[in-house]
Amino acid sequence: MSSTVSKVCKISSIVLGILCFFGGIVMGKVFGGRDFDFVSMITAWICSFLFCLFLYAVGELIDLLVAANNNLIVLAEQQEEQASRSSAPAASAAPYASPAPGSGDWVCKKCGARNKADNRFCKECDTYKS
Ligand SMILES: [Zn+2]
Repeated sequence: MSSTVSKVCKISSIVLGILCFFGGIVMGKVFGGRDFDFVSMITAWICSFLFCLFLYAVGELIDLLVAANNNLIVLAEQQEEQASRSSAPAASAAPYASPAPGSGDWVCKKCGARNKADNRFCKECDTYKS
């Protein structure tokens, strides 16, 4: 994933590099007068090369920033997901945590003892569950 800004930076740096190649030759001719000035040409080439490199680096940097930003967004989404995941079990675990008195448990009418749902007779006094 690369942004359009970084693409523009990279493409323009390449185009500029090609233009500066010819620009250097023109510079050499202009500065050299009758004789071709190689020093001017090479200086122009080096300067333009550095500038193109800088422009390309800016494009690369934008790419990196965009990628880092995307990673941050993904990270944030993952953290949000984890947060909702870790909070969801806490909410659903609450009923399990307290085995509620209820859920089929019954209290003996005769002695008041609490019995489990699958017990048909009171564990204390053997009274039939009614
Ligand atoms: Zn009982």
